[in-house]
Amino acid sequence: MIARAEALDAADPLRPLRERFVLDDTVYLDGNSLGALPRSVPGRMAEVVAEEWGRLRIRSWTESGWDSAPERVGDRLAPLLGAAPGQVVVGDSTSVNLFKLLVGAVRLADDARDEILLDAETFPTDRYVAESAARMTGRRLRAVPAADLARAAGPRTAVALVNHVDYRVGELRDLPALTAALREAGALSLWDLCHSAGALPLALDRDGVDLAVGCTYKYLNGGPGAPAFAYVRSAHLPRFDTPLPGWWGHSEPFAMSPEYAPHAGIRRLRVGSPDLLSMAALEAALEAWDGVELAAVRAKSLALTDLFLEAVDALVEPGAVEPLTPAEHARRGSQVSLRHADAAGLLERLVARGVVADHRPPDVLRFGFTPLYTGFTETVRAAATLGALLAGEEER
Ligand SMILES: *Cc1c(COP(=O)(O)O)cnc(C)c1O
Repeated sequence: MIARAEALDAADPLRPLRERFVLDDTVYLDGNSLGALPRSVPGRMAEVVAEEWGRLRIRSWTESGWDSAPERVGDRLAPLLGAAPGQVVVGDSTSVNLFKLLVGAVRLADDARDEILLDAETFPTDRYVAESAARMTGRRLRAVPAADLARAAGPRTAVALVNHVDYRVGELRDLPALTAALREAGALSLWDLCHSAGALPLALDRDGVDLAVGCTYKYLNGGPGAPAFAYVRSAHLPRFDTPLPGWWGHSEPFAMSPEYAPHAGIRRLRVGSPDLLSMAALEAALEAWDGVELAAVRAKSLALTDLFLEAVDALVEPGAVEPLTPAEHARRGSQVSLRHADAAGLLERLVARGVVADHRPPDVLRFGFTPLYTGFTETVRAAATLGALLAGEEER
């Protein structure tokens, strides 16, 4: 199996992209939680600190493009999301953007639509935010398994908040079909793309997505706490009424007007002063995507997860772990989750042997595959290490 993996590495058209990242001998399968550091980032950070902050200081708001960085970086990200310019802004966290978009969606919908649908398997922050948004807007929150959301949407649904990929088991949802079904029911779609942005091709404009959020520190490698993105379909922008109308979303922030007048474009999603150092890191990190076709990324991601599943099957004692990730390509994100009763303890031993993955309580081990830098040989090595640990072999 190692020989086959080596041949796959040798034939991999994305293999040279690994050089764009700072990596070592660790088998890093946690890029779905925190992407590796792109080589383009440290130098750019040093320059931003010394030149833009250190020398130009306040002048950088205009002379270094700080003022428009959230929209500029949003437009830079847009092609990876399948979005035309002017619909993506970068800033705040995913959680904060979820709040803005969820309340904004209720305000876009007819008053008769008094319910918010929530993907029942959602990431916790999405649920917490949705509960508060529902309470604030006087809407009923109804959690429904993703597979039933299309049927559940009806004349009372204002918006459905759905995860594109389930963070625990790695199941990929049918975004085009569900978006169309929601639209058919007159409901808005709000997609959480945290585990798909940068992992697979997206076509938000073409698929008719209304609203979307996602983080940039996972598959997009923007760095710890990197600003998140928000997408609002251009047709909705003129009526989009944010619940957090800060001065940076104003049409003229420096007019210091007592009345709020939203900016005409995506800038109305902004709240307060942007986190420019993190934004600069993200902007530099996005250079790792130069010339990269997302179709090739997806093809490699599926090849990596296929190989890992096959290697686990071959190298791990039967029954020792249970794969939770769908075998079907159309339903698989870019991770493989395995169930094991002592997932936390197993993870600790894996990390000690140079295989970094992560664990979600109570019993899920997650392995993230980031095609820009994950290789086939190390993928087999990870499965072999897991197999050896489960067979009780001593560490050497
Ligand atoms: C990682 C993740 C988040 C993170 O939210 P932050 O506010 O950026 O910390 C939210 N939703 C999902 C589905 C995630 O996977």
